[in-house]
This record gives sequence, structure tokens and C-alpha cells, in this order.
Amino acid sequence: MIINMPQDVREIIDTLEKKGYSAYAVGGCIRDSVMGIQPHDWDICTSAMPEEILSSLGRHNIIESGLKHGTVTVKVNGRLYEITTFRSDGKYTDNRRPESVTFITDVKEDLERRDFTVNAMAYNDRYGLCDCFSGQEDIRRKLIRCVGDPDMRFNEDALRILRALRFSSRLGFEIEEKTADSIRKNAGLLKNISVERIAAELIGIIDGEYCETVLKEYPDVLGVFIPELIPAVGLDQHNPHHIYDVWTHTVKVVANSPHGKVMRLAALLHDIAKPFCYTMDDRGIGHFKGHPEKGAEMAADILRRLHLDNDTISKVKILIHYHDRRPLPEPKQVRRLVSKTGAELFVPLMQLKRADTLGQNPVTIEEKLRVIDEIEEVFRNVTADGTEYNIRTLAINGSDLKALGISEGRQIGRILKQMLELVIEGSVENERESLLSAVREYLKGEGIAD
Ligand code: ATP
Ligand code: MG
Repeated sequence: MIINMPQDVREIIDTLEKKGYSAYAVGGCIRDSVMGIQPHDWDICTSAMPEEILSSLGRHNIIESGLKHGTVTVKVNGRLYEITTFRSDGKYTDNRRPESVTFITDVKEDLERRDFTVNAMAYNDRYGLCDCFSGQEDIRRKLIRCVGDPDMRFNEDALRILRALRFSSRLGFEIEEKTADSIRKNAGLLKNISVERIAAELIGIIDGEYCETVLKEYPDVLGVFIPELIPAVGLDQHNPHHIYDVWTHTVKVVANSPHGKVMRLAALLHDIAKPFCYTMDDRGIGHFKGHPEKGAEMAADILRRLHLDNDTISKVKILIHYHDRRPLPEPKQVRRLVSKTGAELFVPLMQLKRADTLGQNPVTIEEKLRVIDEIEEVFRNVTADGTEYNIRTLAINGSDLKALGISEGRQIGRILKQMLELVIEGSVENERESLLSAVREYLKGEGIAD
């Protein structure tokens, strides 16, 4: 097998070899190359010690950050390359990282500490492919398999459990049976992994091209850090709009959503409250009243727990809160919904609704998608002139109301909302004087003298 490495990588390897060290491209870049995918970056491993790498590559631009872990980052022609000394890991006691690492001279030993066979291959032009754990064969068979004993490997570093799911979801590879059994058995060890690392892997898992299979098969693994998902598994909806249980439906919605962190997290969590809002009427039909609102709150709690950024949390929350709204495709109702979501999130909301629809009873899909298209068309028309309808763009604000003698914050909020409604309906111009007289009228109606 010949792998066409970028010129820069060849030069780095060549430089190290000329100094008497061995050096290889390794890991993800070799996996991707064997699969015929263009690698997004190239990592290099070598027998040279960190300081020897530094002195060998003196003319290159060295970035010092990883040095104490024995990783040297060099910048060549504007691209970064990580060069790591061959190592074997010492004892693991915290399910996270080794207590020590030992630098070694044999590439095979370095490959042995790597997570999966498909990630444990190295290559250079002189020796070709170094594949002592049958990574190539597993790529051919489309399998994610631990290097060595899965129980041991997941106990060493439990993050590998989520990495297995992420690679499976991204590459469409099945998880080999012993590795899969071990994942189920050891999932609880994820409790020892930091939420930041968990969140990064979770996003990778739900964003993968083949996430549907992975999510369907491993809800319990996600349940270790999002236990709120578990009651959805197998929950029959008893509703003519649905033919799938809540988890199966959720998985389909994730898979049918556009890619990206916000969309996929919103999809994953959109029905999180359904099991907690379930009622059955006397005809035996299931209902989930209030699940979008409660779900938005639950999702925000979950994402805060996973230390996601505030911008993502607030967008996901809005998408979930309004995911079940069904405005008629007419300007007034569409404007009203836009005033709540903001113009920026309206199209994402329609995308979520489409994905949600695709996970419902197939006989209802076509008609529902048609209505969503119509709503989006109306949205394009009502926003064509750039006018936004929300409390902030209203031509009056809290100070104007205070000047009219209204001092209570809640009442100010209520009146501004009411005025916004009137503007959206088209019964009052979004213009200061008209709005102030509408406020006076409103106050009369409420029995409060102005
Ligand atoms: P990606 O395309 O997502 O970057 P990758 O395989 O390059 O995939 P990285 O996280 O960049 O993954 O890691 C580079 C390599 O380091 C992996 O291919 C694997 O050999 C090894 N590796 C990374 N994380 C672990 C881990 N937790 N345990 C064992 N080996 C690991
Ligand atoms: Mg990588």
C-alpha cells in the first residue's frame, strides 16, 4: 500500500530519519488515507526525544505548548503538525490518563497504546504501512475494534467509549462484538470523565453521518450523562401521528436534521420532556401537553450541566420551546412566531419541524411538509423588507410607559407585549404616537386611569 503524504510531512519524516531516528505518519491520517478520505491533519510519531525533535527541526517554527507532554507542534507553510515521541503508557488509576509515560524506540509499542485498530496504523515511504493490529482488515470489514482487551482499554481511559461511538457514527462502521459488549458493561466509567470532553464527543456522535444506528443501539451510554433520555426508550406514544416510540422517533429526528451543534442538540433533546408530560385520554390516545416548554427548560439544565456555551444553550432552548407551534401560513401568525423566536432562528426552527415530521407517521408526512414550506414562504415575504417584530424594535419602551405613570415592571412587560401583538396584527402602526394612544386606550380598558 502506498500513501501519498503531503510534501511537508515527507520532509519532516525525512529530516528526522537523516538524523538517525525513525518517524512515521500515524493515527487518523493513515486511517483516512486507507479509506480514501482526505485527512484533515497529519500527526507524526518518532523515536526522537522531544528535545531531539526540536534540534532536528530547528529551522521550522516550533510551538512550545505541548512540550511538557512530549508533543512538539511545528508550523510548516502555515500548517500545524504534531510530532510525538513513541511512548508506552504507565499505569492508569483514574479511568482517564496514565500516571506516567515512558519514551520508547519501537513504533509497534507506540501503536499498542492507541485506542482502535483502525487508528493504530503508521506509515512512512521507507517501510510502508505498519499495521500490527489488522487495522486495514477492520477498515475493509467496517469495524471499530479495541487494540487489545476492551475491558482493560476502557478502564484505562473511559473516554474511548464515546470515541468508539463517534467513529462508528462518522464512518458508518459497526462496533465489533466484544468491544460493544465491553462498552455496555463499562459505560458507567464515563462518570469519571470531565463534562467538557464528554460534550465534545457527544456532539461528534450526534453530528455523524451514520448517527441513527449508533443512537438507536446505545441510548444507555448517553444515559450515563443524560439520564433524562432513558424514559423515552420504548415509550409508546399511543397517538395516530406517531408509529415509533419516543426514543426511536428522536433518533430519526436527529438523523434528519441539518448538521451542526445547535440543530443536532435541539433534535436530540426536543422531546426530552415527553415522558414527563404523558397523559392518555378516555379514547386511549396519548398526549404530551406542555412538553415543548418543559423540554426547553430541561434541555437548558442538561446543556448547562455539560458546560455548553450560553449562545448554544439559548438557541437550543428557543428551538425546543417552539418546535411544536403550528402557525397557519398567513402573515399575522407567522409574524407572531417570528417575534418570539427572532428572525435568525426561524429557518432553523422550520428545519427542526421538517426533521420532526420525518420521524412521524409516514401517512401524515407529505401534508405536514407542505404546510411547513408554506409557512417558510410567508416568512420570506413578511421579512423581505427587513422589518423585525419584537419588543426591542417596538417604537416605545419601558421609559415611555414609566412616563405615563406605570411603575410596576411586570405590568410594563405585559403592556409592551400587548402593543407588539397589535403591531403584528396590523391594527396599530409601529410608530410612537400611535402606540402611546393605544397604551392609553389599553389602560382605560384595564380600568386604570392614565
Ligand atoms: P480525527 O479525525 O477525529 O482527528 P483521529 O484518529 O486523528 O481522528 P485524534 O483524537 O486526533 O483522533 O487522535 C489521534 C490518534 O491518537 C488516534 O488516531 C489514536 O491513535 C490516538 N488516540 C487519541 N485519543 C486516544 C485515546 N483516548 N486513547 C488511545 N489512543 C488515542
Ligand atoms: Mg486527529
